[in-house]
Amino acid sequence: MSDGTERPILGIDKCGCCGMPVQIKLNKNRNAYYFCGHQNEQGENCAHQVRWGKPYTAKLIRKFKGEPDEPSKFARPAPNSPRVGTYEEYLS
Ligand SMILES: [Zn+2]
Repeated sequence: MSDGTERPILGIDKCGCCGMPVQIKLNKNRNAYYFCGHQNEQGENCAHQVRWGKPYTAKLIRKFKGEPDEPSKFARPAPNSPRVGTYEEYLS
């Protein structure tokens, strides 16, 4: 049973501020976030943090699982899609 405090790690990405590796985790609302705890040479925390909503979180989960993005329903048909139109149109 989860007590609601677990923070699964989705993967490692780079901090958008200092560029150091950060662990992307899920918060209790199952949204992805990271908090950069890297310190600079002066010992100051970067403290950059990013949170994402459900749509981008789903993208991140697929990315870190190595799954391709879901094709958009507006995507063009693949080149090997069946030809559109009837056989008669094809002959004419
Ligand atoms: Zn940082």
